[in-house]
Amino acid sequence: MADKKEKRFRFVIVGGGIAGVTCVEQLSSQIPSTDVALITASPHIKAVTNYKQVSKTLEEFDVEERPSSVLEEKFPNLTVIHSAVKSLHTQSHSVETADGRVFGYEKLCICSGGRPKLLTQDNPYVLGIRDTDSAQEFQKRLSKAKRIVVVGNGGIALELVYEVEGCEVIWAVKDKAIGNTFFDAGAAQFLIPTLVADKPESAALCKRTRYTTEEPAPGASQSFTADRNSRRHGSGPTEAGSALGPDWHEGIVLRGTEQVSRRVLLEYQCEVKKIFTSEELLNSPQQTLRLENVGSWPVYIQLTNGKTFGCDFVVSATGVVPNTEPFLNGNNFALADDGGLHVDDHMMTSEADVYAAGDVCTACWEHSPLWQQMRLWTQARQMGWYAGRCMAAHVLSEPIELDFCFELFSHITKFFNYKVVLLGKFNGQGLGPDHELLLRCTKGQEYVKVVLSGGRMVGAVLIGETDLEETFENLILNKMDLTPYGEELLNPDIDIEDYFD
Ligand code: FAD
Repeated sequence: MADKKEKRFRFVIVGGGIAGVTCVEQLSSQIPSTDVALITASPHIKAVTNYKQVSKTLEEFDVEERPSSVLEEKFPNLTVIHSAVKSLHTQSHSVETADGRVFGYEKLCICSGGRPKLLTQDNPYVLGIRDTDSAQEFQKRLSKAKRIVVVGNGGIALELVYEVEGCEVIWAVKDKAIGNTFFDAGAAQFLIPTLVADKPESAALCKRTRYTTEEPAPGASQSFTADRNSRRHGSGPTEAGSALGPDWHEGIVLRGTEQVSRRVLLEYQCEVKKIFTSEELLNSPQQTLRLENVGSWPVYIQLTNGKTFGCDFVVSATGVVPNTEPFLNGNNFALADDGGLHVDDHMMTSEADVYAAGDVCTACWEHSPLWQQMRLWTQARQMGWYAGRCMAAHVLSEPIELDFCFELFSHITKFFNYKVVLLGKFNGQGLGPDHELLLRCTKGQEYVKVVLSGGRMVGAVLIGETDLEETFENLILNKMDLTPYGEELLNPDIDIEDYFD
């Protein structure tokens, strides 16, 4: 490498996803005269558009894929380099790209995102969805499919299962309820009837008391069908490119070959035991397999609940692994338990002058009691922005404190076409038994859950057009003792906003 000609930049950012691009924008606007290089493996960059600060901590925005020239036109001192970084040399402060070029840096920020945690590598019948290419591949394969199996219980699985039409979906979740990364069994029960109903023709724009939770027994199934006439069948109750963003499925038709609008069979509390091709199945001892809906399929998936399903392909939606690989060799990075680059409260890794932001890093500072890291769009933007500010502050020798956005976890999204707002310790994360819940639920309309600890609101889940997010955010941030209000807090006849004015 020593004989390779090196070009030096003051700031080098790796990754053209939301974290990297936001970091570049922040640095380039804060120090316009400085030279910045963005090295990215993907041909396009991700840009935040229509950014809206909804409240103190809640934010909403769209994400667009754009040619990198847009960024270079906006920031004359920016150079975009389209190649993947294949190695990092922290001693000499340089990176080498796959096309053999070497770039030196004064400060480096790694924003290389994550890659899908696939159930198995190199199986042509197992797909992960991460970027535009993999979403298009999924769409292509789906258009010829009669049945798919979706494994996973996070945001991607939730969206897929809701969006796919014309194809039977077997949905295997390891938990007792759907979506448990985002909400509890009560909210899951609220959302499930939506899987039975026909999807609105074009999804409505997201401008957007009673509580029963019957937990399914281990290995239990629930099935839901919505056909064109909305009748219900079934037995149950009612190097990669950038990660896709919230509306990744909009504008692509997710339709299989069948006439049915939606047919979902849920398998709870199970994981994948084995994946067979049809040939392997023929050679396996049949008596040990409990085949569901026998037929001839290209691939079969055996679940830990003993059932085996044949399908056209399997979607592995079981989370992401931080994309750290090209950066580790020869360096001494501290890694967190989840494999992310350990970053402190200035987004600095354990290597000098190397920062990291977005899905690739793990926030290892002492968190505010109301914040947790989740590998989400909003946090990628916030971390990229804050990393840019820290890098600038450090070269300018200015002090900088942890940004307010890390004070309270907040996220707005859309599941099953409902607006969903999550605040603070919305699932009582880390609170142990030391918390109580208040709930309000109107079937098909709204689900409101408040988490209280020591009489103070520490979290909330708001599904539907509740209009409560700002008030609840204030109540959480103010740490007000709400004991005197008791259940009145969720009384629908009281205008809570006036109450606390
Ligand atoms: P990425 O967006 O993954 O960007 C990483 C960048 O690094 C890419 O440009 C890549 O090409 C580049 N790169 C990687 N390795 C190298 C290398 N060696 N050299 C150079 N460049 C490299 N979040 C939400 O908040 N709401 C949602 O509804 C939501 N839905 C999602 C749906 C899907 C299908 C997926 C996959 C994710 C979803 N997410 C959602 C998560 C969200 O997309 C990610 O948290 C976010 O995009 C992470 O941004 P990032 O910039 O850290 O990484």
